[in-house]
Amino acid sequence: MRVHGDRIIRRRSGITKLKKYSEARKILAEDFKNICGYCGKDSHIMHERFHVDHFVPVSLNPERENDYYNLVWACPKCNLVKSNKWPTENKEIANDGNKGFVDPATEEYDKHIERNEQGYICGKTLLGRNICENLNFHIRRTDLYWKIHSLYKIQEKLEELFDKQKLSEAEKDFYIETNKLLKRYVNDAFDERE
Ligand SMILES: [Zn+2]
Repeated sequence: MRVHGDRIIRRRSGITKLKKYSEARKILAEDFKNICGYCGKDSHIMHERFHVDHFVPVSLNPERENDYYNLVWACPKCNLVKSNKWPTENKEIANDGNKGFVDPATEEYDKHIERNEQGYICGKTLLGRNICENLNFHIRRTDLYWKIHSLYKIQEKLEELFDKQKLSEAEKDFYIETNKLLKRYVNDAFDERE
């Protein structure tokens, strides 16, 4: 399964150098379909104010601070965990094939990172596993958002049926069960700061 689910994130072309990177919040969120480039979390579902991450850290390359093509829409957790990490220590090289990062707004991201059946994010390659370690995916409850997202989708379908007065008694009971589960996962996500 893809980390980004069915959403494809790509930066639009033609954005010239910005005066201040924060100006790009709106279009960056649009290009990233409101999800965290790294972990795929949806800012609307999680009710979180997302950060603008610099793919190549500003500390290493201040020239790219206001370069749209160096920005990643990121959840606070990923942004804070990534911080100034840049394993190759060379601002021109994102990874050496074994360690480093892959720009999440590219097709290449999917070659190295995936989501398993339980919803946890894991590496498919050596580089993918290194990315997971750099973002703490190996110790984070990356499954929680995915479970919340999946329950939301189920609830939307049941609500549609309810609106059409086509919801059976068994489905109503099922709705209540999904709601209990949803509350539990939302609480867990809050406790884990996910
Ligand atoms: Zn994230």
